[in-house]
Amino acid sequence: MTTATIAIDMDVPAGVSVDEYERIDDGHAFHVSWELPDRPRCETCKREAPLQLIEKNKFLTIRDLDLWGKPSFFAYQEVLHRCPHCGHRQSLLPPFKRRDVKYSYRFEEHVLVSLIGGTAEDVAQRLGIAAETVERIVKNRIEDAKAKQIDPQRKIERLGMDEISLRKGHKGYATILTDLTDPARPEILAVAKGRDEAAGQACLERLSPEQRAAVRCHHTDMGPAYLKACGALLPNSQSVIDRFHVAKKLGEVADALRKKTTEPTSEVCPRNNASGSALRCTTSAADPRT
Ligand SMILES: [Zn+2]
Repeated sequence: MTTATIAIDMDVPAGVSVDEYERIDDGHAFHVSWELPDRPRCETCKREAPLQLIEKNKFLTIRDLDLWGKPSFFAYQEVLHRCPHCGHRQSLLPPFKRRDVKYSYRFEEHVLVSLIGGTAEDVAQRLGIAAETVERIVKNRIEDAKAKQIDPQRKIERLGMDEISLRKGHKGYATILTDLTDPARPEILAVAKGRDEAAGQACLERLSPEQRAAVRCHHTDMGPAYLKACGALLPNSQSVIDRFHVAKKLGEVADALRKKTTEPTSEVCPRNNASGSALRCTTSAADPRT
């Protein structure tokens, strides 16, 4: 096989640079570095001090978004700083991930968005990660949302509110609020536990009263819980039963049909019955060719 070299544009998190690319088995590795802080804050004594690097050649690898259907990874050198005040050594956290996880923030976003209309098992299987990882991501995002307000300067005209479900039989649900102002780039604003009106309200309360008043339309499913929460907290917003939600409903119907019709039946298939003979119909209802 011959090889060719091509250039691609890739989004990288702010302050991060890609230094090297390496093709690995079944994926892509990007060696990245980031701007180090001049004066890191010590996590033990809480004091700031000029950066004092400790040399250590340990490389860490974390999961990032897929590229051309294959997982890609960020590989980076661990950066250790020694606090001159108390002597504590700490690993400096890169801007693209949280502590103690092996994936980037944007991988978390991708998982959350994939959960809209899919179960944790489906998403985990598709991305090749454990269902527990999916749940941990949701849990962390719920905790984040509790702790921080959305930037009050952010202009939001269009919102989406969706339920996501976690493991079957665990009654695990969460509500996810998305900024759809730029439909090509939906962004997650908040995540709350549950899928009732209170969960919808908890998400909307992350926005300032001015931001809520500026919202022009909200996309929800057909259930009453989110419609009520949005109706109460978004005074100038029109409700849209979003095509996505409708599509999801249609998907469920098609799925049910497919399950039903892929079972071999002895019913006469009307489409194939032009000759008048009774054929066993095993055609899938969702097959685009039929
Ligand atoms: Zn210290």
